[in-house]
Amino acid sequence: MSSRVISLDLNSDPKTIWRNCLNIIKDNVPAITYNTWFLPIKPIELTNKTLKIQVPNNFFIEWIEEHYNAVINKAVKSILGENGNLIYIILESHEDDGEDAGLTKNGQPVVLQEPKAPKIEETPVHNVSSFMQNNVEEEELIFNSNLKPKYQFENYIKGESNQLARAAAFAVSENPGETSFNPLFIYGGVGLGKTHLIQAIGNRIITKYPDKNVLYIPSSDFASKFVDAIQLNKGNEFSNFYKRMDVLIIDDIQFLVNREKTQDLFFHIFNTLHQLGKQIILSSDKPPKDLKGLNERLISRFQWGLSADIQPPDFETRMAILKNKAEKFGIQLQHGHIEYIAYNVTSNIRELEGCLIKVLAIASLGSKELDMNSIKKIVKEISTTRQVNVSIDQITKAVCDYLKVDENKVREKNRRKEVVQARQIAMYLSKIITKSSLKTIGLHFGGRDHSTVIHSFDCVTQLLQEDANIKEVVESIKNKIEISST
Ligand code: ADP
Ligand code: MG
Repeated sequence: MSSRVISLDLNSDPKTIWRNCLNIIKDNVPAITYNTWFLPIKPIELTNKTLKIQVPNNFFIEWIEEHYNAVINKAVKSILGENGNLIYIILESHEDDGEDAGLTKNGQPVVLQEPKAPKIEETPVHNVSSFMQNNVEEEELIFNSNLKPKYQFENYIKGESNQLARAAAFAVSENPGETSFNPLFIYGGVGLGKTHLIQAIGNRIITKYPDKNVLYIPSSDFASKFVDAIQLNKGNEFSNFYKRMDVLIIDDIQFLVNREKTQDLFFHIFNTLHQLGKQIILSSDKPPKDLKGLNERLISRFQWGLSADIQPPDFETRMAILKNKAEKFGIQLQHGHIEYIAYNVTSNIRELEGCLIKVLAIASLGSKELDMNSIKKIVKEISTTRQVNVSIDQITKAVCDYLKVDENKVREKNRRKEVVQARQIAMYLSKIITKSSLKTIGLHFGGRDHSTVIHSFDCVTQLLQEDANIKEVVESIKNKIEISST
């Protein structure tokens, strides 16, 4: 038994309060989530129903708010009552002084977040039953735009892969309904930034033109709300609501495929809005003409405006995205680590983020030193696009980037020493990494003969045995392009 006198009222002891919160949270999230995101949190202080908790970095706050807001909110409110509040603090030092409260050496929290009560999950106000109560035309429409503030142009990295789409989106946000980009139809594969881009348009418009009615809705929500409305015999009110938008943004329109009734209704809404000069923005996983199962007349309307695609990002864009996000989360990552991820996760920005998040999670916990092996493991775990079939061109690019040699020269008949060396290393790596034939490899290097490829391969093999420097260079290039298949 401790002989210490506890002078605090137990109820106002932050540790006890937090422990009680944790008990609730624990029942509501998987164990791994609990261990990763909640255990590292430290209660610091409790004043007037406001609990100050310390988290390792900004990233934690964002992550928790984005994913566990409802859970943490529920826990805090049920322990502290309805007025319960949370304040996150971040300490400058990531060092952890063990058991104790975890203050920095001088005990000062350096970043004090705005007293953020965990946000209450907002339910869209425009759900069927509530918006139907105002059937008045003149009355101001009160509804939730469904836009997430995190999707902005400012944090949308430009690159060749999204150039046209981004430029068109920006133009639309400047003058909604007044460009010839109506509808604006953005298409591209999963995780390439369609939702981000079309929401950024909406966010910019509501800032620039606060009076405009802007609504974002995924097409599947649109469809299911329509079904609800029909059941309540409120089909008209439903479509009238949408017809009052100045900017209607429908995401993933491909999910309307084979939903005849919803398509019909949307067709009418589309026509009305278009005639009124209102802006329509759509996204899809494929271009309009490939949307089989979608009514021809809709497809033809989608082609009235501008269709712009988003391609998988190139290496530079991937690097920029990773750097930008790491910086935003306030975590320093080694250049080589970022580069490794950018080289190896190529097809999808969501996966790129997934890797980074995992890396950041480990970095935030500070329990483990981040080394190249952990990075490789994470990439391997997350990336579905493992570079088993990394291309000869990618290899050439990696080699040239590393050795700072012009890629074109490697493919020409240039005989400068450094160019020859880069070419030989690229051929060597192409042979060991890709399954391409010697002939194919030769073709990628300006149509060289297969015997030249063999010669290069032999030269590099020899060099690797003799020259430690070359060995190191080749190893690090290889690290960048290849995920060990172990
Ligand atoms: P999609 O809707 O095409 O499936 P998302 O818009 O959901 O893709 O993008 C996936 C993730 O990648 C999001 O978190 C988004 O913020 C991020 N992202 C996509 N493109 C970019 C970009 N160009 N710059 C920064 N982040 C991006
Ligand atoms: Mg999307």
